[in-house]
Amino acid sequence: MDIEYSIIAPIYNEKDNIRELYRRVGEVMNSTGKKWELVLVDDGSVDGSTQLIAELAGEHKEVVPLIFARNFGHQIAVTAGLDHARGKAIVVIDADLQDPPEVILNLIQKWQEGYEVVYAVRAERKGESWFKLISAKLFYRLIYRITNVKIPLDTGDFRLIDRKVVDVMNSMRERHRFLRGMASWVGFRQIGVNYVREPRFAGETKYPLKKMVSFALTGITGFSYFPLQLSTILGFIAMCISLVAIPVVIIERLTGSQAFLGQASTLIAVLFFGGVQLISLGIIGEYIGRIYDEVKGRPLYVLANLPATKKDLES
Ligand code: UDP
Ligand code: MG
Repeated sequence: MDIEYSIIAPIYNEKDNIRELYRRVGEVMNSTGKKWELVLVDDGSVDGSTQLIAELAGEHKEVVPLIFARNFGHQIAVTAGLDHARGKAIVVIDADLQDPPEVILNLIQKWQEGYEVVYAVRAERKGESWFKLISAKLFYRLIYRITNVKIPLDTGDFRLIDRKVVDVMNSMRERHRFLRGMASWVGFRQIGVNYVREPRFAGETKYPLKKMVSFALTGITGFSYFPLQLSTILGFIAMCISLVAIPVVIIERLTGSQAFLGQASTLIAVLFFGGVQLISLGIIGEYIGRIYDEVKGRPLYVLANLPATKKDLES
């Protein structure tokens, strides 16, 4: 029997979650009566998760281990899972059980109705800091406004994706990946299913502020030129102001007024526009750095273990 469902979980130092994840996913997936696999992608863990994954793979034939040579990041780990998943429907889920595996059944139901992407919408988030809640809310709304691709609000990577769509996504080899954007960009019939995001089962978040900011930048630069256009807009505004200001200053000087005498006004203008210019350069730099990374064309990830072949798994 061919594998019907692949569940992909990226793992970075989640040793206390892995067995529970397998147990809960196992319970849910066995209830479908179809053949399934759990692709556990170890993203360079240093807490013993790697050994645990290998152990679990030895015990259960459904577990497919992919071990990275180092930490490549969450989105790349999911990408490796998508590359190696063999199911007809592929589900991406966090390993910390914030996304309850039971919700997979609701996703499957919509898939069976004919939707090719079924994304899980966080109707409520439990056990997360107010900073995370507010920053996430603002981020999803900002990206919705400034990009052409309509990325659904309050939606993470927890979703079911049909094989057809995964094949297209696998052909998109961009290095700076924003999978939730890529999954929307592809098109097809898509629908959301609401769920309540639980607190972590164990451990701490692996997304400190620095990673959150860098992920937000990836999403914005990957799907929008808005930051670049912002410099043009600011430039026009500054020019319009100067068109009014220059004649005013000239007339003031000619009429003997002391209004703009001295260095303070000059200094303010130089510092302000110096700042604006450096920020604009920085924004261009963000895009150029990303172009440089793409041009190098390095592999997205390096596997330390060769994934078991289909034959190995069936024997
Ligand atoms: N993760 C990963 N590599 C990383 C960071 C995170 O594979 O560099 C995994 C992590 O183990 C978890 C998922 O990505 O399964 C989501 O991370 P986390 O729960 O820490 O993020 P949060 O839910 O706090 O946004
Ligand atoms: Mg989490």
